[in-house]
Amino acid sequence: MNNITEIDDLIKLISKLPGLGPKSAKRIVLKLINNREEIVKPLTKALAEVYKNISRCKICGTLKPSYIECNFDNCKIVEKKYDKICVVENLSDQWSIESSSIYNGYFHILGGTISSHGQKKEDLLINSLIERVRKKKIEEVILATSATVEGQTTAYYIKDSLKNFDVKVTKLAQGLPVGGEIENLDDGTLFSAFKNRSKLNSNSD
Ligand SMILES: [Zn+2]
Repeated sequence: MNNITEIDDLIKLISKLPGLGPKSAKRIVLKLINNREEIVKPLTKALAEVYKNISRCKICGTLKPSYIECNFDNCKIVEKKYDKICVVENLSDQWSIESSSIYNGYFHILGGTISSHGQKKEDLLINSLIERVRKKKIEEVILATSATVEGQTTAYYIKDSLKNFDVKVTKLAQGLPVGGEIENLDDGTLFSAFKNRSKLNSNSD
């Protein structure tokens, strides 16, 4: 686009978004340029607000207003008390499960899986999950990681880390398609995977 640096930079940034390549990024930028007042102005404001005011909780991994500080005894985002924690890989998984309304309880977002894209377990919120289980009255930890090798490796690692706690560890039912990522499942599949979840035995059992 005539080598205007600002526009080129914007196209590059937008093409980094999921599902968008350079072509669709250009289309979006054109749309933006043609709608300065209606889209660019409020969008700039909304992005700045999100950047300033929203962050990921360092304990449970979910999104929260930055002024709320969670601690292990009390996740301030969730007002109600629950006895279950559902462990997922990403925020999008939490959103899918929430919108299907098959589950009532806390969420814990790991931020990925062990070994995906060189991700180490130290980068994932596993220690804080163990702390949550220790500090709260948790009866069940539901591992809702995806049916990929990484997802399953992560599930077994967590199961193992919780072996000294008096907590039931379950895993979503096998009905999940192999390689199935939670966020891509339809409500029906998700419902039966939750309903038929089973106790997870350690690798060593
Ligand atoms: Zn939290």
